[in-house]
Amino acid sequence: MKENNERNTLRHCSYCGKEFQITPKAYHQHLCSDECRRMWHNTHRKTYNGICNYCGKTFTGNKPIKKYCSRECFSRAEFYKQEDIAVLCQKLMKGEACRVPEWIKKLIK
Ligand SMILES: [Zn+2]
Ligand SMILES: [Zn+2]
Repeated sequence: MKENNERNTLRHCSYCGKEFQITPKAYHQHLCSDECRRMWHNTHRKTYNGICNYCGKTFTGNKPIKKYCSRECFSRAEFYKQEDIAVLCQKLMKGEACRVPEWIKKLIK
């Protein structure tokens, strides 16, 4: 029984590959140190790709529900300024390519 336990407490670190001891409590641990944990999470952070609803730029975020690439785009799209609308209308009338927020597109349709 003792032998079995000892075999189970040695593991290879998922980040640096070094062998390290784990306690039965930390059975799922797969990284040898805080440093490796930090590095591993840096390289394995989950990211989601999205397209900004305002400027159309692709961006990566850590939440799948994010709609805008930046705070600025968020506030521009959600609280569109009157002068922005004026510029937008001019562009639309001239047939120029421009980015139109989703809610304005819905109004035009
Ligand atoms: Zn390590
Ligand atoms: Zn944007």
